[in-house]
Amino acid sequence: MPEAVLQRAAAEMLDWQGSGMGVMEMSHRGKEFGAICAQAEADLRQLLAVPEDFHVLFMQGGGLGENAIVPMNLSRGGQVDFVVTGSWSVKSHKEAQRYCQAKVIASNADSKHTRMPDPSTWELSADASYVHICSNETIHGVEFQTLPDLAALGSQAPLVIDFSSHVASRSVDWRRVGLAFGGAQKNLGPAGLTLVIVRDDLLGHALDICPSAFNYRTVADNQSMYNTPPTWAIYVAGLTFQWLLQQSEGALTGVAAMEQRNQAKARLLYDFIDASPFYENKVSPDCRSRMNVPFFLVDETRNDDFLSGARDRGLLQLKGHKSVGGMRASIYNAMPLEGVQALVDYMREFERSHA
Ligand code: PMP
Repeated sequence: MPEAVLQRAAAEMLDWQGSGMGVMEMSHRGKEFGAICAQAEADLRQLLAVPEDFHVLFMQGGGLGENAIVPMNLSRGGQVDFVVTGSWSVKSHKEAQRYCQAKVIASNADSKHTRMPDPSTWELSADASYVHICSNETIHGVEFQTLPDLAALGSQAPLVIDFSSHVASRSVDWRRVGLAFGGAQKNLGPAGLTLVIVRDDLLGHALDICPSAFNYRTVADNQSMYNTPPTWAIYVAGLTFQWLLQQSEGALTGVAAMEQRNQAKARLLYDFIDASPFYENKVSPDCRSRMNVPFFLVDETRNDDFLSGARDRGLLQLKGHKSVGGMRASIYNAMPLEGVQALVDYMREFERSHA
C-alpha cells in the first residue's frame, strides 16, 4: 500500500470529510458511500483506460472465487480453453472442470513454469466459450509481456485474464480482452475487494446454478450493490486509484508512469541477480515478471541466514512460496525504487560476507 493512501485512510477513519461517520459506519446505499463508489469507478476507468462497452464490477470472493464465477457466467456449460503457466492457472483450470469442459491447450509445465508457451503453438478449440490465461503468475514469476491476440490466431473466443498480481502495473490492451479479474490485495487496496472488468456482450449467459450475487448481469444492473459491497476496501482502493493517477515519471502519468517505474525496479534486481554467481533466477528473461521475482541462493544452506539478515534490515516477506522454495521479492506498485535498491544493497553485502 502506498504510505500516502494509508495516512489518508487513517486521517479519515473516524470522520469521512465532515460527514460525522467513518466509511465503515456508512450505509452502502447512502449518498456518501454512493459518491465514494462512483468516484472510485470513474478513477479506475480513467486509470486503466477501460472502454465504454466494459462494465466495472466490485465483487467479493477473491481470485479463487472468480475461478468458479467466470465459468458459471461465461462457459455456457461448453468448452473452455486454458493456458496453464503456473500455480494460479493450474487452480483456475481445476476449478472450472466443475462447470464446463475445461481443456488445457498449452502448458509450460515441462519447463517447471519458467517459460511462457508461445501463442502460435496453442491448440485453440474452434468452439471455446473463452480462453483463460493468468497474465502474471505470482508464485512462479512469469508474466505475459504482451497479451495474446486471439483473433490473429484465428479464434473468435474472448480472452479472460487473471490479472490479480499485476493489475495497474502496466497498460491493458482491451481490444484483446473480454474479461479481466483480480483480487485487489496486491496493487489496488486491502483484501476483500475483487475487481471484474467485463465486456457487455458477455453478460446474461450465466448457468442456472450461478448464485445471483455472482451473476455478472445482476451485479452490473445493480451497480455492484446487489448485496452489500466491501465498502472499506472499495474506499481504500479508490484512494489508491487517485494516488496512481497522480504518479508521474517525466512526461508520463498514471499507469504509464508506474510501468516505467516498475521496469526500472525489475531491471535493477534482475540485472544484479544475473551478474552475480551467488544468486540465480531460473525464469527465461523474455517472460520474467516485473512484480514477482523468485530467486535462489546457489548455496541453499545459507537461506535462513539470508532471511534473518534481511529481517534485521527491515526487508520483510522475502521467503519464496513453499512450492518453489528459495526467495521471492514481490515488488508491487507501492514499492519504491529505493526499496529495491535496499534489497540489492543487502544482497551484495551478504554475498561479499559469505562468498
Ligand atoms: N490469482 C493470482 C494470480 C493470485 O496471485 C492470487 C493470490 N495470490 C489468486 C489468484 C488468488 O486470489 P485470492 O486469494 O484473492 O482468492
